[in-house]
Amino acid sequence: MMRQAACRCGELKIRCEGDPVRVSVCHCLECQRRTGSAFGVQARFATADVTIEGDFSIYERTSDRGRWARYRFCPKCGSTVAYENEDASGLIAVPVGAFADPNFPLPQSSGYERRRHRWVSIVGGHIDHLQS
Ligand SMILES: [Zn+2]
Ligand SMILES: [Zn+2]
Repeated sequence: MMRQAACRCGELKIRCEGDPVRVSVCHCLECQRRTGSAFGVQARFATADVTIEGDFSIYERTSDRGRWARYRFCPKCGSTVAYENEDASGLIAVPVGAFADPNFPLPQSSGYERRRHRWVSIVGGHIDHLQS
């Protein structure tokens, strides 16, 4: 199965082959700032199963643990459509919202729950609730 994700303006597209390796929610403050929402949710695919089409800019930062993370975003509309980090080599994360598909596979884990907004509850399938 091929899924396509895109930025808001549609000029930066990502094609992902097969089902995601994992889908996770993250409540960390960095994900809150990146998305402008209360939490982030991303699907990770093997790098070889992902094709990126269109121009992108890169933002790089260092995580709490001192590892690099690199985000690709559309230079025109600003949507982040893919990111990679040193702790998950060989995988590319795509924000689930970029697929604009309410039937997208459910998350299996919920990270940084100590940063979770009090009104947020992640339900659906089996979820591993992680404090970091
Ligand atoms: Zn765009
Ligand atoms: Zn996060």
